[in-house]
Amino acid sequence: MFSNFKVKKEERCSTDKQNSEHNCCSVQPKGKVECSSCSEKAKGVLGKTLEALLNDNAKSKLTCFDGFYYCKTPSCKTVYFREDTILRQENMSVVVGLKDGASPATICYCFGWTKEKIKAELQGRGKTVALEDIKVKMQNPGCSCEILNPSGGCCLADVSKIIKELSLL
Ligand SMILES: [Zn+2]
Repeated sequence: MFSNFKVKKEERCSTDKQNSEHNCCSVQPKGKVECSSCSEKAKGVLGKTLEALLNDNAKSKLTCFDGFYYCKTPSCKTVYFREDTILRQENMSVVVGLKDGASPATICYCFGWTKEKIKAELQGRGKTVALEDIKVKMQNPGCSCEILNPSGGCCLADVSKIIKELSLL
């Protein structure tokens, strides 16, 4: 199913390429690039991640969703950037949970784990089942990070980090 999606996307993308001058059709940018706002390294995301998570207004201003990088720095307002285009929280249809002040502070978009929920578990029971729950559900029903998580990738590392941070409070 994944490979079908990819082929379909590349076909659509090559059509875009013929129609427009600029070549932004690398499916997922390789390597890491410095965020122009915070100078931290940012990772490339798939066009389908932006297509799924930008709001209609932002989408109407872009002809192609490929070639963007995701900035995960909590204090940085930039969510995605590509050349001179910067997209922020106001361009998104979901709250970017890892950014400072986000509410809800969603970490796992596939199965609904937020900082608030993890914190409540830690306070109430002294532990959280977040990681176990996510790992079980990744097997069945499976996850859709590419179209649900602004990072476009697996949330497990972020969830572990958040549990550690909250456990130290
Ligand atoms: Zn940044």
